[in-house]
Amino acid sequence: MKNLTREHFLALDQTDPLVAYREQFQLPAGMIYLDGNSLGPLPKATIGRLANVAQQEWGEWLITSWNKAGWMDMPTRLGDKIGQLIGAAAGQVIVADSTSINVYKTLAAALAMNPDKHVILSTHDNFPTDLYMAQGLIDQLGGKHSLKLVDGEAIAEHLNDDVAVLTLTHVNYKTGRKYDMAGLTAKAHDCGALTMWDLAHSAGALTVQLDACMVDFAVGCGYKYLNGGPGAPAFLYVANRHQANFSQPLSGWLGHANPFAFDWKYEPAEGIARYMCGTPPVLSMSALECGVDMMIAADIDAIREKSLHLTDLFIAAVEQLCEDHPLRLATPRDRNIRGSQVSFHHPEGYAIMQALIANQVVGDFRAPDIIRFGFTPLYTRYTDIWDAAVILKHILDTKAWDRPEWKQRKKVT
Ligand SMILES: *Cc1c(COP(=O)(O)O)cnc(C)c1O
Repeated sequence: MKNLTREHFLALDQTDPLVAYREQFQLPAGMIYLDGNSLGPLPKATIGRLANVAQQEWGEWLITSWNKAGWMDMPTRLGDKIGQLIGAAAGQVIVADSTSINVYKTLAAALAMNPDKHVILSTHDNFPTDLYMAQGLIDQLGGKHSLKLVDGEAIAEHLNDDVAVLTLTHVNYKTGRKYDMAGLTAKAHDCGALTMWDLAHSAGALTVQLDACMVDFAVGCGYKYLNGGPGAPAFLYVANRHQANFSQPLSGWLGHANPFAFDWKYEPAEGIARYMCGTPPVLSMSALECGVDMMIAADIDAIREKSLHLTDLFIAAVEQLCEDHPLRLATPRDRNIRGSQVSFHHPEGYAIMQALIANQVVGDFRAPDIIRFGFTPLYTRYTDIWDAAVILKHILDTKAWDRPEWKQRKKVT
């Protein structure tokens, strides 16, 4: 791709089949929001839904809403909806807790189902919470297991008879590199290992086929590409064939076979419900349902197609406009192994991102030197990414990033 111009991007906006979705979000005027992979924006429908849940369901119907408004069924109802986005037939996904807690529950299940093996295999650059939760679980289990971290490129070579569970984030949060879910899951099974995939950067961003890939367990976030709102509840997937084999360690009352019998003895529910722990956060789940409903209405294949086009073009535009600067692409050029983000290394990455944000181009920074841009086809226009690349060029050309206040790290980067 050579000599791109803004006209090229304008023409693409005019024929974009997803163009109508942008209006369904509340987006600040003038902002180019390339951080929907970290916190999705507010769907307009969510505002009315939250008002209704508060005023009518909570305010007027009070406790009867657990039955009358279907509050109690939300974890499985939303789970089945999310299942449609990740290739999971009904009854295998539940919405509950946070991703971190779901990592704990599913890894605990995988280790218990594979008692003769003692290695959790992952990569050095997996998202830290996944690795931290594995470390906590290993301590909790008495230190009999170990966490083996290897380079992502070499992961397949490390699958052997010692591995109890292979756990990977499907799309790496820093680089946007996507793993071969079908191939690695099959290879893991050949060695007698189970798999646990983190879909934080996949669900709602690209086509995922958990059932077809024979995945054992998966987890993912509600507040990123699913637009569920800050701190939205997370989801987890357990393949049907494994559900009866283990009851997870956080044996709270709502994972019980009959919570309202109030029996003293824990007896796990049938099916995916045993992966629940306590009372569902109804307000947050209501917001998440609006985000998920919109995703289901939009065709995920069309989303993936546009996402690849956006990321291809953003790479091309930045490389064309910023060729004199020390930006180094961290994301795979090969679109078959790319998620829905583009990242560049730059030694002054933090300050550059602060300058971009001050100029209304919102992405984020990931230590030590990565500027990261997420692409969300339902509201990102082609012209947005051209304009973002032009603003990046301007900031680099003028060294506008070189200000002391933009080198001061904030709590959230
Ligand atoms: C964002 C993210 C999480 C977040 O976990 P929380 O428990 O919601 O804070 C987990 N895993 C990955 C890969 C992520 O990108």
